[in-house]
Amino acid sequence: MIDQKYHYLLNHADIAFEAPTSGAYIEVKDAANGTSLAWVKQHDRASVEHFILRSEQAQAAFKKFTALQRADILMAWYRLMLDHQEDLAQILTAEQGKPLAEARGEIGSAASFIRWFAEQARRIDGDILPSPQAQQRLLVIKQPIGVTAAITPWNFPAAMITRKIAPAIAAGCSMLIKPAEQTPLSAYALQVLAIQAGLPSDVMITLSGDSVAVGKTLCESDIVRKLTFTGSTEVGRILAEQCAPTIKKLSLELGGNAPVIVFDDANIEQAVKGILASKFRNSGQTCVCANRVYIQEGIYDAVAQRVIEEVNKLKVGDGRIEGTTQGPLVDEAAVAKVESHIQDALAKGATLATGGKRLSESNTFFEPTVLTGVTQEMRVAREETFGPLAPLFSFKTEQDAVQMANDTEFGLAAYLFTQNASRQWRVGEALEYGMVGVNTGMISIEVAPFGGIKQSGLGREGSKYGIDDYLEMKYLCVDLSE
Ligand code: ADP
Repeated sequence: MIDQKYHYLLNHADIAFEAPTSGAYIEVKDAANGTSLAWVKQHDRASVEHFILRSEQAQAAFKKFTALQRADILMAWYRLMLDHQEDLAQILTAEQGKPLAEARGEIGSAASFIRWFAEQARRIDGDILPSPQAQQRLLVIKQPIGVTAAITPWNFPAAMITRKIAPAIAAGCSMLIKPAEQTPLSAYALQVLAIQAGLPSDVMITLSGDSVAVGKTLCESDIVRKLTFTGSTEVGRILAEQCAPTIKKLSLELGGNAPVIVFDDANIEQAVKGILASKFRNSGQTCVCANRVYIQEGIYDAVAQRVIEEVNKLKVGDGRIEGTTQGPLVDEAAVAKVESHIQDALAKGATLATGGKRLSESNTFFEPTVLTGVTQEMRVAREETFGPLAPLFSFKTEQDAVQMANDTEFGLAAYLFTQNASRQWRVGEALEYGMVGVNTGMISIEVAPFGGIKQSGLGREGSKYGIDDYLEMKYLCVDLSE
């Protein structure tokens, strides 16, 4: 059971700390050991429809708040998150499994989006356009899109929510949030703090429940004017289809297949650090995680050796234990996918350099793994592994590297390591990705636009651009003649 000292952050009608004897509930389990943490209500279609109406009412009042009022609420929420950073991190690690240090980092990063959009709330400017007619005035204003909905994943249970709801609030929208079944507690804890910060009730509504039923109801609603989703490309496609009849505005942050390219002229230690950071954060379960590592022939052995040395230092275990760097994988299916990618690569001629197996049949911890001699024919070249597997490919020329890196339907994040400034530009521009890290494996930050091209999604989150998805543009044409 989740420690009683965190109950104050989970004080919500949807949450039970003892197995409910009636009603439909979802059990939330400790990611490290499978014990019960709590139970959350399973909202059904009727319940979701009821909350959509409440969200609509709340938004009608909330849109009248001034930008300064909205900014102040967000700033108060940001401060409360930092005041409760440790407890929020403990809840996050309990349900998600990532090491506490990463969970604290996620709470900090989640809060940074709220602060950023508190600042942006006051910069939703319009325009006055010069008219070719003397008696005419042409104006552009921006208004909140209205009721919005978010469907979020389990890998960043806090940051994926704030990155969506902070711009919504800044713009004057309300939001219904369906968190992932595995990690709803962080969402409820954030909501408790939002209310404490002064957010009017029902501007943020968390709805746990069966993803298909809740998702479908949100998508089909005429009242919900926008859907924002982070998750797999398969589910993104289903949601886009379900939103088509009501022509909803969509933001989709979907799968990736991130390449890392290490050129002969790279600083090897910088590249190794970047590969480790980008590949093994959250046990390889992020959409910007390195999925393919391309190393130029001349330095292949040197880079591979250093990567293996560093990977062997990683420590797998319960995220609450000091020194743990790798938590569990989300479920059995995640373990099976990593295993199948390894088996496929080995069958096609790759070599297992380190790792390669789960720690025990009774849990989902997996050894950080490095494969060498990996080629484009192997499944790992095409599919996102979403686990702690670093496949090392080799390449001859810059042209080959760019061609292989772009040979995918995905286009979220890519990384390159080179000390040559003109190559940084040339390759950075040639990569068909929404985000490119140059000599770094860490690119996510609230001030920059996060998002992908091709089948990695639509729209951008964070940055000055992130608020546009929550605003409608209105043009006013005023004739002054009497
Ligand atoms: P992941 O691989 O990160 O679990 P998913 O796309 O399966 O990615 O899940 C991301 C979010 O989408 C979760 O909140 C999940 O509950 C939700 N989800 C999964 N399937 C559906 C669906 N058919 N309709 C609506 N939401 C869904």
